[in-house]
Amino acid sequence: LYIDDECISCGACVSECPNTAIFDADEKWTMADGTSMDDNEEHDPISEDHTFIVAAKCTECNGFFDEPQCVDVCPTDSIHPDPNNEESKDELMAKKIKLHGE
Ligand code: SF4
Repeated sequence: LYIDDECISCGACVSECPNTAIFDADEKWTMADGTSMDDNEEHDPISEDHTFIVAAKCTECNGFFDEPQCVDVCPTDSIHPDPNNEESKDELMAKKIKLHGE
């Protein structure tokens, strides 16, 4: 999933994410944040203008919920599937295990 430019950075989605995959505009992020990974390397923000999703941490909520939680709470309908990064359910579940263990 990705967040488009209609995002008003309200932050409603940030706390909904079970993978800590959503960050505020211009925020540095790590894989370790909110996961059991020990990769604390800081990465540059994906967007300086609005809230963003780190695809490497997003499981589309597989392993936690039936539906992506962020999409439900977004008041501007700014969160969409990324046509350039389609992942199967198996791939998303493998990512969930990588992030949090079995
Ligand atoms: Fe987080 Fe779920 Fe939204 Fe992905 S779909 S960013 S895992 S809340």
